[in-house]
Amino acid sequence: MASFSPFQQPYCQLGGQFFRYCQAEPLHNAHWVARNDALIVEHRLSFNDAELLKLASGQLDDSLTPIAQKYTGHQFGYYNPDLGDGRGLLLGQGSQANGLAYDWHLKGAGRTPFSRGGDGRAVLRSCIREYLASEAMAGLGIPTSRALSVVSNDETVWREGAEPRAALLRLTPSHIRFGHFEWAAQLGPAASKQLADHVIEQHFSNLADTAEPYAALLTEIVTRTAKMIAQWQSVGFNHGVMNTDNFSILGETFDYGPYAFLDDCQIAYICNHSDQAGRYAYNEQPQIGLWNCQVLAASFADLIPETSTREAIINNYVTTYNQHYITLMRHKLGLVSENAKDKELVAELIILMDKHALDWSCTWRELALPLDAQFASKLKDYQAWWLTYQARLDLESISEHTRKILILNKNPQLVLRNHIAQEAIERAEAGDSAWVDQLRKALQNPFDISAEWLTYTERPKLNQKGLRLSCSS
Ligand code: AMP
Ligand code: MG
Ligand code: MG
Repeated sequence: MASFSPFQQPYCQLGGQFFRYCQAEPLHNAHWVARNDALIVEHRLSFNDAELLKLASGQLDDSLTPIAQKYTGHQFGYYNPDLGDGRGLLLGQGSQANGLAYDWHLKGAGRTPFSRGGDGRAVLRSCIREYLASEAMAGLGIPTSRALSVVSNDETVWREGAEPRAALLRLTPSHIRFGHFEWAAQLGPAASKQLADHVIEQHFSNLADTAEPYAALLTEIVTRTAKMIAQWQSVGFNHGVMNTDNFSILGETFDYGPYAFLDDCQIAYICNHSDQAGRYAYNEQPQIGLWNCQVLAASFADLIPETSTREAIINNYVTTYNQHYITLMRHKLGLVSENAKDKELVAELIILMDKHALDWSCTWRELALPLDAQFASKLKDYQAWWLTYQARLDLESISEHTRKILILNKNPQLVLRNHIAQEAIERAEAGDSAWVDQLRKALQNPFDISAEWLTYTERPKLNQKGLRLSCSS
Protein backbone atom coordinates (compact mmCIF):
# COMPACT_ATOMS: atom_id res chain seq x y z
CA MET A 1 0.00 0.00 0.00
CA ALA A 2 1.74 3.12 -1.17
CA SER A 3 -0.42 5.93 0.14
CA PHE A 4 -2.92 5.66 2.96
CA SER A 5 -5.53 8.17 3.97
CA PRO A 6 -7.45 7.27 7.09
CA PHE A 7 -11.14 6.51 7.44
CA GLN A 8 -11.90 5.33 3.96
CA GLN A 9 -14.89 2.98 3.89
CA PRO A 10 -14.28 0.42 1.15
CA TYR A 11 -17.02 -1.71 2.74
CA CYS A 12 -19.56 0.85 1.47
CA GLN A 13 -18.91 -0.33 -2.09
CA LEU A 14 -21.25 -3.17 -1.17
CA GLY A 15 -24.24 -0.87 -1.18
CA GLY A 16 -27.10 -0.15 1.17
CA GLN A 17 -28.24 -3.73 1.75
CA PHE A 18 -25.10 -4.30 3.78
CA PHE A 19 -25.06 -1.27 6.08
CA ARG A 20 -26.70 1.97 7.24
CA TYR A 21 -25.01 5.31 7.67
CA CYS A 22 -25.29 6.21 11.30
CA GLN A 23 -24.05 8.98 13.58
CA ALA A 24 -22.39 8.22 16.90
CA GLU A 25 -23.94 9.41 20.14
CA PRO A 26 -20.75 10.54 21.91
CA LEU A 27 -19.82 9.93 25.51
CA HIS A 28 -19.62 13.46 26.92
CA ASN A 29 -16.75 14.40 29.24
CA ALA A 30 -15.12 11.07 28.65
CA HIS A 31 -11.82 10.14 30.28
CA TRP A 32 -9.25 7.51 29.39
CA VAL A 33 -9.51 4.20 31.18
CA ALA A 34 -6.99 2.43 28.99
CA ARG A 35 -4.92 3.39 26.00
CA ASN A 36 -2.80 0.82 24.24
CA ASP A 37 0.51 2.60 23.70
CA ALA A 38 2.08 -0.52 22.20
CA LEU A 39 -0.62 -0.64 19.52
CA ILE A 40 -0.31 3.11 18.97
CA VAL A 41 3.36 2.57 18.17
CA GLU A 42 2.68 -0.53 16.06
CA HIS A 43 0.19 1.45 13.95
CA ARG A 44 2.40 4.55 13.93
CA LEU A 45 -0.58 6.71 14.90
CA SER A 46 -0.03 10.42 14.58
CA PHE A 47 -3.17 11.54 16.44
CA ASN A 48 -2.42 13.64 19.48
CA ASP A 49 -3.99 12.69 22.78
CA ALA A 50 -6.96 15.05 22.44
CA GLU A 51 -7.73 13.95 18.89
CA LEU A 52 -7.60 10.31 19.89
CA LEU A 53 -9.84 10.89 22.92
CA LYS A 54 -12.42 12.48 20.62
CA LEU A 55 -12.44 9.47 18.32
CA ALA A 56 -12.45 7.05 21.23
CA SER A 57 -15.49 8.75 22.78
CA GLY A 58 -17.44 9.11 19.54
CA GLN A 59 -17.01 12.84 18.97
CA LEU A 60 -16.48 12.42 15.28
CA ASP A 61 -15.90 15.20 12.78
CA ASP A 62 -17.59 15.44 9.39
CA SER A 63 -14.72 13.79 7.55
CA LEU A 64 -15.88 10.44 8.92
CA THR A 65 -18.83 8.45 7.59
CA PRO A 66 -19.57 5.92 10.32
CA ILE A 67 -21.75 2.98 9.45
CA ALA A 68 -23.57 0.15 11.18
CA GLN A 69 -23.01 -3.15 9.38
CA LYS A 70 -25.89 -5.47 8.64
CA TYR A 71 -25.46 -9.16 9.31
CA THR A 72 -27.54 -12.04 10.57
CA GLY A 73 -26.43 -15.19 12.34
CA HIS A 74 -27.16 -18.32 14.32
CA GLN A 75 -27.44 -17.61 18.03
CA PHE A 76 -27.36 -20.76 20.20
CA GLY A 77 -28.25 -22.80 17.14
CA TYR A 78 -31.15 -20.67 15.90
CA TYR A 79 -31.13 -18.30 12.96
CA ASN A 80 -31.76 -14.65 13.82
CA PRO A 81 -32.37 -12.49 10.73
CA ASP A 82 -32.50 -9.23 12.71
CA LEU A 83 -28.88 -8.79 13.74
CA GLY A 84 -26.42 -6.08 12.81
CA ASP A 85 -24.20 -3.59 14.62
CA GLY A 86 -26.58 -2.62 17.40
CA ARG A 87 -24.15 -0.62 19.47
CA GLY A 88 -20.96 -0.45 17.46
CA LEU A 89 -20.04 1.69 14.48
CA LEU A 90 -17.46 1.07 11.81
CA LEU A 91 -15.51 4.31 11.59
CA GLY A 92 -13.52 3.13 8.56
CA GLN A 93 -9.94 2.13 7.88
CA GLY A 94 -8.11 4.17 10.47
CA SER A 95 -4.53 2.93 10.33
CA GLN A 96 -2.26 0.29 8.95
CA ALA A 97 0.25 -2.16 10.34
CA ASN A 98 2.25 -4.96 8.73
CA GLY A 99 1.01 -3.83 5.31
CA LEU A 100 -2.65 -4.28 6.25
CA ALA A 101 -5.29 -1.57 6.61
CA TYR A 102 -7.18 -1.83 9.88
CA ASP A 103 -10.86 -1.10 10.38
CA TRP A 104 -11.63 0.96 13.44
CA HIS A 105 -14.83 0.03 15.20
CA LEU A 106 -16.26 1.92 18.14
CA LYS A 107 -18.25 -0.30 20.49
CA GLY A 108 -20.77 1.50 22.69
CA ALA A 109 -21.33 4.36 20.22
CA GLY A 110 -25.08 4.61 20.69
CA ARG A 111 -28.22 3.30 19.03
CA THR A 112 -28.28 2.19 15.40
CA PRO A 113 -31.03 0.91 13.08
CA PHE A 114 -30.07 -2.58 14.31
CA SER A 115 -30.29 -1.89 18.04
CA ARG A 116 -33.67 -3.60 18.41
CA GLY A 117 -34.57 -3.13 22.10
CA GLY A 118 -31.01 -2.32 23.16
CA ASP A 119 -29.62 0.99 24.36
CA GLY A 120 -26.61 1.01 22.02
CA ARG A 121 -24.24 1.24 24.96
CA ALA A 122 -21.46 -0.79 26.50
CA VAL A 123 -20.49 -0.92 30.17
CA LEU A 124 -17.05 -0.33 31.63
CA ARG A 125 -16.81 -3.91 32.91
CA SER A 126 -17.26 -5.51 29.48
CA CYS A 127 -15.04 -2.98 27.69
CA ILE A 128 -12.18 -3.67 30.11
CA ARG A 129 -12.72 -7.40 29.70
CA GLU A 130 -12.55 -7.18 25.90
CA TYR A 131 -9.56 -4.82 26.03
CA LEU A 132 -7.56 -7.16 28.26
CA ALA A 133 -8.60 -10.37 26.52
CA SER A 134 -7.76 -9.08 23.06
CA GLU A 135 -4.28 -8.09 24.16
CA ALA A 136 -3.80 -11.28 26.20
CA MET A 137 -4.66 -13.38 23.14
CA ALA A 138 -2.31 -11.33 21.00
CA GLY A 139 0.40 -11.91 23.62
CA LEU A 140 -0.24 -15.65 23.37
CA GLY A 141 0.12 -15.49 19.60
CA ILE A 142 -3.55 -16.31 18.99
CA PRO A 143 -5.26 -14.45 16.13
CA THR A 144 -7.56 -11.80 17.56
CA SER A 145 -9.10 -8.43 17.02
CA ARG A 146 -7.07 -5.80 18.86
CA ALA A 147 -8.13 -3.15 21.35
CA LEU A 148 -6.85 0.40 21.17
CA SER A 149 -8.64 2.10 24.03
CA VAL A 150 -11.35 2.21 26.61
CA VAL A 151 -12.98 5.47 27.68
CA SER A 152 -15.70 6.05 30.24
CA ASN A 153 -17.74 8.90 31.68
CA ASP A 154 -20.10 9.74 34.53
CA GLU A 155 -23.23 8.47 32.82
CA THR A 156 -24.60 5.09 33.75
CA VAL A 157 -26.16 2.24 31.85
CA TRP A 158 -28.69 -0.16 33.32
CA ARG A 159 -27.73 -3.82 33.20
CA GLU A 160 -28.09 -6.00 36.28
CA GLY A 161 -27.83 -2.63 38.07
CA ALA A 162 -26.53 0.84 37.18
CA GLU A 163 -23.05 0.59 35.69
CA PRO A 164 -20.55 3.10 34.29
CA ARG A 165 -20.87 3.74 30.57
CA ALA A 166 -17.83 3.10 28.37
CA ALA A 167 -16.68 2.68 24.79
CA LEU A 168 -14.01 0.49 23.25
CA LEU A 169 -12.04 1.13 20.07
CA ARG A 170 -11.46 -2.18 18.32
CA LEU A 171 -9.04 -2.67 15.44
CA THR A 172 -8.92 -5.51 12.95
CA PRO A 173 -8.46 -5.66 9.18
CA SER A 174 -12.06 -6.84 8.83
CA HIS A 175 -15.22 -6.80 10.89
CA ILE A 176 -16.92 -9.13 8.42
CA ARG A 177 -18.47 -12.08 10.22
CA PHE A 178 -19.79 -15.48 9.17
CA GLY A 179 -23.17 -13.80 9.67
CA HIS A 180 -22.49 -11.35 6.83
CA PHE A 181 -22.43 -14.33 4.45
CA GLU A 182 -25.62 -15.68 5.98
CA TRP A 183 -27.28 -12.32 5.31
CA ALA A 184 -25.92 -12.22 1.74
CA ALA A 185 -27.27 -15.73 1.11
CA GLN A 186 -30.67 -14.55 2.29
CA LEU A 187 -30.48 -11.65 -0.19
CA GLY A 188 -29.61 -13.98 -3.09
CA PRO A 189 -26.80 -15.10 -5.42
CA ALA A 190 -25.85 -11.62 -6.64
CA ALA A 191 -25.34 -10.36 -3.08
CA SER A 192 -23.32 -13.46 -2.11
CA LYS A 193 -21.07 -12.96 -5.10
CA GLN A 194 -20.68 -9.27 -4.34
CA LEU A 195 -19.70 -9.95 -0.73
CA ALA A 196 -17.29 -12.76 -1.63
CA ASP A 197 -15.63 -10.63 -4.32
CA HIS A 198 -15.27 -7.78 -1.84
CA VAL A 199 -13.75 -10.05 0.80
CA ILE A 200 -11.30 -11.53 -1.70
CA GLU A 201 -10.31 -8.11 -3.03
CA GLN A 202 -9.86 -6.57 0.42
CA HIS A 203 -8.53 -9.43 2.51
CA PHE A 204 -7.54 -12.44 0.41
CA SER A 205 -6.18 -10.89 -2.77
CA ASN A 206 -3.81 -13.85 -3.15
CA LEU A 207 -6.87 -16.00 -3.93
CA ALA A 208 -8.19 -13.80 -6.74
CA ASP A 209 -6.33 -15.62 -9.48
CA THR A 210 -6.87 -19.17 -8.25
CA ALA A 211 -8.95 -21.50 -10.42
CA GLU A 212 -11.90 -21.48 -7.99
CA PRO A 213 -11.63 -18.38 -5.84
CA TYR A 214 -14.84 -19.00 -3.85
CA ALA A 215 -13.80 -22.53 -2.94
CA ALA A 216 -10.37 -21.18 -2.05
CA LEU A 217 -11.96 -18.49 0.11
CA LEU A 218 -14.15 -20.94 2.01
CA THR A 219 -11.16 -23.27 2.46
CA GLU A 220 -9.08 -20.44 3.86
CA ILE A 221 -11.76 -19.33 6.34
CA VAL A 222 -12.42 -22.90 7.48
CA THR A 223 -8.70 -23.59 7.89
CA ARG A 224 -8.09 -20.44 9.90
CA THR A 225 -11.09 -21.16 12.10
CA ALA A 226 -9.93 -24.71 12.82
CA LYS A 227 -6.46 -23.47 13.75
CA MET A 228 -7.82 -20.69 15.95
CA ILE A 229 -9.97 -23.13 17.92
CA ALA A 230 -7.05 -25.53 18.33
CA GLN A 231 -5.20 -22.59 19.88
CA TRP A 232 -8.11 -21.79 22.18
CA GLN A 233 -8.12 -25.39 23.41
CA SER A 234 -4.39 -25.37 23.98
CA VAL A 235 -4.51 -22.36 26.30
CA GLY A 236 -7.75 -23.36 28.03
CA PHE A 237 -9.76 -20.50 26.57
CA ASN A 238 -13.56 -20.75 26.70
CA HIS A 239 -15.14 -18.14 24.40
CA GLY A 240 -18.65 -18.47 25.76
CA VAL A 241 -20.78 -17.14 22.88
CA MET A 242 -19.73 -18.90 19.68
CA ASN A 243 -22.68 -17.60 17.68
CA THR A 244 -21.97 -17.29 13.96
CA ASP A 245 -22.28 -13.50 14.20
CA ASN A 246 -19.33 -13.59 16.61
CA PHE A 247 -17.09 -15.44 14.14
CA SER A 248 -14.71 -13.41 12.01
CA ILE A 249 -13.96 -14.40 8.42
CA LEU A 250 -10.30 -13.75 9.24
CA GLY A 251 -10.27 -16.58 11.76
CA GLU A 252 -9.62 -14.15 14.59
CA THR A 253 -10.97 -14.41 18.10
CA PHE A 254 -13.72 -11.85 18.09
CA ASP A 255 -16.52 -10.37 20.19
CA TYR A 256 -15.33 -11.14 23.68
CA GLY A 257 -18.21 -11.61 26.11
CA PRO A 258 -18.37 -13.89 29.16
CA TYR A 259 -15.15 -15.72 28.18
CA ALA A 260 -12.86 -17.50 30.64
CA PHE A 261 -9.42 -18.99 30.75
CA LEU A 262 -9.78 -22.21 32.72
CA ASP A 263 -8.66 -22.16 36.32
CA ASP A 264 -9.15 -25.78 37.39
CA CYS A 265 -9.25 -28.07 34.40
CA GLN A 266 -12.92 -28.93 33.94
CA ILE A 267 -13.30 -30.02 30.37
CA ALA A 268 -17.06 -29.44 30.36
CA TYR A 269 -16.64 -25.94 31.82
CA ILE A 270 -19.31 -23.40 30.79
CA CYS A 271 -18.11 -19.85 31.36
CA ASN A 272 -21.40 -18.27 30.28
CA HIS A 273 -24.04 -18.88 32.93
CA SER A 274 -26.78 -17.94 30.45
CA ASP A 275 -25.75 -21.06 28.47
CA GLN A 276 -27.58 -23.62 30.59
CA ALA A 277 -27.32 -26.45 28.07
CA GLY A 278 -23.57 -25.99 27.73
CA ARG A 279 -23.67 -25.57 23.97
CA TYR A 280 -20.51 -23.47 24.20
CA ALA A 281 -18.73 -25.42 26.94
CA TYR A 282 -14.94 -25.67 26.64
CA ASN A 283 -14.94 -29.23 25.32
CA GLU A 284 -17.71 -28.44 22.80
CA GLN A 285 -15.72 -25.70 21.10
CA PRO A 286 -14.00 -27.78 18.40
CA GLN A 287 -17.27 -29.22 17.14
CA ILE A 288 -19.14 -25.92 17.44
CA GLY A 289 -16.40 -24.40 15.27
CA LEU A 290 -17.18 -27.12 12.74
CA TRP A 291 -20.91 -26.45 13.05
CA ASN A 292 -20.31 -22.75 12.39
CA CYS A 293 -18.21 -23.61 9.34
CA GLN A 294 -21.06 -25.80 8.09
CA VAL A 295 -23.41 -22.82 8.39
CA LEU A 296 -20.89 -20.72 6.51
CA ALA A 297 -20.53 -23.39 3.81
CA ALA A 298 -24.32 -23.51 3.42
CA SER A 299 -24.22 -19.72 2.87
CA PHE A 300 -21.74 -20.38 0.06
CA ALA A 301 -24.22 -22.63 -1.81
CA ASP A 302 -24.77 -20.10 -4.58
CA LEU A 303 -21.01 -19.55 -4.90
CA ILE A 304 -19.96 -23.20 -4.78
CA PRO A 305 -22.97 -25.09 -6.20
CA GLU A 306 -21.49 -28.62 -5.93
CA THR A 307 -22.41 -30.05 -2.55
CA SER A 308 -19.47 -32.45 -2.72
CA THR A 309 -17.00 -29.56 -3.08
CA ARG A 310 -18.42 -27.82 -0.03
CA GLU A 311 -18.38 -31.08 1.91
CA ALA A 312 -14.75 -31.72 1.04
CA ILE A 313 -13.83 -28.26 2.32
CA ILE A 314 -15.73 -28.85 5.52
CA ASN A 315 -14.12 -32.25 6.03
CA ASN A 316 -10.83 -30.44 5.92
CA TYR A 317 -11.78 -28.69 9.17
CA VAL A 318 -11.43 -31.90 11.17
CA THR A 319 -8.06 -32.76 9.63
CA THR A 320 -6.71 -29.26 10.13
CA TYR A 321 -8.00 -29.05 13.69
CA ASN A 322 -6.54 -32.42 14.68
CA GLN A 323 -3.17 -31.71 13.13
CA HIS A 324 -2.88 -28.28 14.62
CA TYR A 325 -4.11 -29.38 18.03
CA ILE A 326 -1.63 -32.23 18.40
CA THR A 327 1.21 -30.00 17.22
CA LEU A 328 0.36 -27.38 19.87
CA MET A 329 -0.04 -29.99 22.59
CA ARG A 330 3.27 -31.64 21.71
CA HIS A 331 4.91 -28.28 22.18
CA LYS A 332 3.22 -27.88 25.55
CA LEU A 333 4.75 -31.22 26.54
CA GLY A 334 8.13 -30.06 25.28
CA LEU A 335 8.19 -32.64 22.48
CA VAL A 336 9.84 -31.95 19.16
CA SER A 337 9.49 -35.33 17.48
CA GLU A 338 6.24 -37.05 16.57
CA ASN A 339 4.95 -40.33 17.88
CA ALA A 340 1.66 -42.06 17.09
CA LYS A 341 0.85 -42.37 20.80
CA ASP A 342 1.21 -38.64 21.58
CA LYS A 343 -2.52 -38.11 21.18
CA GLU A 344 -3.15 -40.62 23.96
CA LEU A 345 -0.45 -39.12 26.14
CA VAL A 346 -2.13 -35.72 25.90
CA ALA A 347 -5.63 -37.09 26.38
CA GLU A 348 -4.58 -39.10 29.45
CA LEU A 349 -3.05 -36.04 31.06
CA ILE A 350 -6.15 -33.95 30.42
CA ILE A 351 -8.40 -36.68 31.81
CA LEU A 352 -6.27 -36.69 34.99
CA MET A 353 -6.33 -32.92 35.20
CA ASP A 354 -10.11 -32.98 34.87
CA LYS A 355 -10.53 -35.81 37.40
CA HIS A 356 -8.41 -34.09 40.05
CA ALA A 357 -9.45 -30.51 39.11
CA LEU A 358 -5.82 -29.58 38.53
CA ASP A 359 -5.10 -26.04 37.51
CA TRP A 360 -4.90 -25.90 33.69
CA SER A 361 -2.10 -23.36 33.31
CA CYS A 362 0.08 -24.24 36.31
CA THR A 363 -0.01 -27.99 35.67
CA TRP A 364 1.31 -27.60 32.14
CA ARG A 365 4.06 -25.25 33.19
CA GLU A 366 5.14 -27.50 36.04
CA LEU A 367 6.09 -30.17 33.49
CA ALA A 368 9.38 -28.28 33.35
CA LEU A 369 10.00 -29.17 37.03
CA PRO A 370 11.13 -32.43 38.62
CA LEU A 371 8.19 -34.61 39.67
CA ASP A 372 8.59 -33.97 43.40
CA ALA A 373 8.34 -30.20 42.83
CA GLN A 374 5.00 -30.54 41.06
CA PHE A 375 1.62 -29.95 42.69
CA ALA A 376 0.27 -33.25 41.35
CA SER A 377 3.27 -35.32 42.43
CA LYS A 378 1.45 -37.22 45.23
CA LEU A 379 -1.33 -38.49 42.95
CA LYS A 380 -0.80 -42.17 42.13
CA ASP A 381 -2.36 -41.98 38.66
CA TYR A 382 -0.36 -38.85 37.88
CA GLN A 383 2.83 -40.68 38.90
CA ALA A 384 1.88 -43.45 36.46
CA TRP A 385 1.29 -40.90 33.70
CA TRP A 386 4.64 -39.30 34.49
CA LEU A 387 6.40 -42.62 33.93
CA THR A 388 4.78 -42.95 30.49
CA TYR A 389 5.83 -39.39 29.75
CA GLN A 390 9.42 -40.12 30.82
CA ALA A 391 9.49 -43.15 28.53
CA ARG A 392 8.27 -40.94 25.70
CA LEU A 393 10.98 -38.39 26.45
CA ASP A 394 13.59 -41.12 25.95
CA LEU A 395 12.62 -41.05 22.25
CA GLU A 396 13.48 -37.35 21.99
CA SER A 397 16.83 -36.09 20.78
CA ILE A 398 16.88 -32.67 22.47
CA SER A 399 18.54 -32.04 25.82
CA GLU A 400 16.54 -31.76 29.03
CA HIS A 401 17.58 -28.13 29.24
CA THR A 402 16.24 -27.35 25.76
CA ARG A 403 13.00 -29.14 26.58
CA LYS A 404 12.49 -27.11 29.75
CA ILE A 405 12.93 -23.91 27.79
CA LEU A 406 10.43 -25.16 25.21
CA ILE A 407 7.87 -25.96 27.91
CA LEU A 408 8.32 -22.55 29.54
CA ASN A 409 8.01 -20.81 26.17
CA LYS A 410 4.87 -22.67 25.16
CA ASN A 411 2.95 -22.57 28.46
CA PRO A 412 2.18 -19.04 29.62
CA GLN A 413 3.13 -17.95 33.10
CA LEU A 414 0.56 -15.15 33.33
CA VAL A 415 -2.98 -15.91 32.22
CA LEU A 416 -5.93 -13.54 32.24
CA ARG A 417 -7.95 -15.51 34.73
CA ASN A 418 -11.38 -14.07 35.47
CA HIS A 419 -10.44 -13.00 38.98
CA ILE A 420 -7.51 -10.98 37.57
CA ALA A 421 -9.77 -9.28 34.99
CA GLN A 422 -12.23 -8.68 37.82
CA GLU A 423 -9.56 -6.98 39.93
CA ALA A 424 -8.76 -4.67 37.01
CA ILE A 425 -12.45 -3.78 36.67
CA GLU A 426 -12.88 -3.11 40.38
CA ARG A 427 -9.76 -0.95 40.48
CA ALA A 428 -10.94 1.04 37.45
CA GLU A 429 -14.42 1.47 38.89
CA ALA A 430 -12.78 2.79 42.07
CA GLY A 431 -10.76 5.31 40.03
CA ASP A 432 -7.45 3.46 39.64
CA SER A 433 -7.53 2.71 35.94
CA ALA A 434 -3.73 2.82 35.48
CA TRP A 435 -3.61 -0.81 36.58
CA VAL A 436 -5.55 -1.89 33.47
CA ASP A 437 -2.68 -0.86 31.22
CA GLN A 438 -0.04 -2.22 33.58
CA LEU A 439 -1.80 -5.57 33.41
CA ARG A 440 -2.18 -5.27 29.63
CA LYS A 441 1.57 -4.75 29.32
CA ALA A 442 2.32 -7.82 31.43
CA LEU A 443 -0.14 -9.90 29.38
CA GLN A 444 1.53 -8.91 26.15
CA ASN A 445 4.57 -10.91 27.27
CA PRO A 446 2.95 -13.77 29.20
CA PHE A 447 5.83 -16.26 29.05
CA ASP A 448 8.27 -14.07 30.91
CA ILE A 449 6.86 -12.17 33.84
CA SER A 450 8.58 -9.62 36.03
CA ALA A 451 8.70 -10.15 39.80
CA GLU A 452 5.84 -7.75 40.59
CA TRP A 453 3.38 -10.04 38.74
CA LEU A 454 4.48 -13.33 40.29
CA THR A 455 1.58 -13.56 42.74
CA TYR A 456 -0.79 -13.40 39.74
CA THR A 457 0.84 -16.49 38.26
CA GLU A 458 -0.08 -18.62 41.27
CA ARG A 459 -3.02 -20.97 41.57
CA PRO A 460 -6.09 -18.93 42.45
CA LYS A 461 -7.60 -19.24 45.91
CA LEU A 462 -10.90 -21.04 46.27
CA ASN A 463 -12.94 -17.83 46.32
CA GLN A 464 -11.16 -16.56 43.19
CA LYS A 465 -11.86 -19.60 41.06
CA GLY A 466 -14.44 -20.37 38.43
CA LEU A 467 -16.09 -16.96 38.31
CA ARG A 468 -18.90 -17.31 35.75
CA LEU A 469 -20.48 -14.43 33.91
CA SER A 470 -23.71 -13.66 32.13
CA CYS A 471 -24.04 -12.38 28.57
CA SER A 472 -24.94 -8.93 29.88
CA SER A 473 -22.46 -6.36 28.64
P1 AMP B 1 -23.43 -9.83 21.36
O1 AMP B 1 -24.12 -10.76 22.32
O2 AMP B 1 -22.64 -8.76 22.03
O3 AMP B 1 -22.61 -10.56 20.36
O4 AMP B 1 -24.57 -9.06 20.56
C1 AMP B 1 -25.57 -9.71 19.79
C2 AMP B 1 -26.35 -8.67 19.04
O5 AMP B 1 -27.02 -7.78 19.93
C3 AMP B 1 -25.54 -7.79 18.12
O6 AMP B 1 -26.31 -7.51 16.97
C4 AMP B 1 -25.29 -6.56 18.96
O7 AMP B 1 -25.04 -5.42 18.18
C5 AMP B 1 -26.60 -6.44 19.71
N1 AMP B 1 -26.46 -5.77 21.01
C6 AMP B 1 -25.82 -6.23 22.10
N2 AMP B 1 -25.90 -5.36 23.11
C7 AMP B 1 -26.60 -4.29 22.66
C8 AMP B 1 -27.02 -3.05 23.22
N3 AMP B 1 -26.74 -2.72 24.48
N4 AMP B 1 -27.73 -2.22 22.42
C9 AMP B 1 -28.03 -2.54 21.18
N5 AMP B 1 -27.68 -3.68 20.59
C10 AMP B 1 -26.97 -4.56 21.30
MG1 MG C 1 -21.60 -10.07 18.79
MG1 MG D 1 -20.57 -8.45 21.48
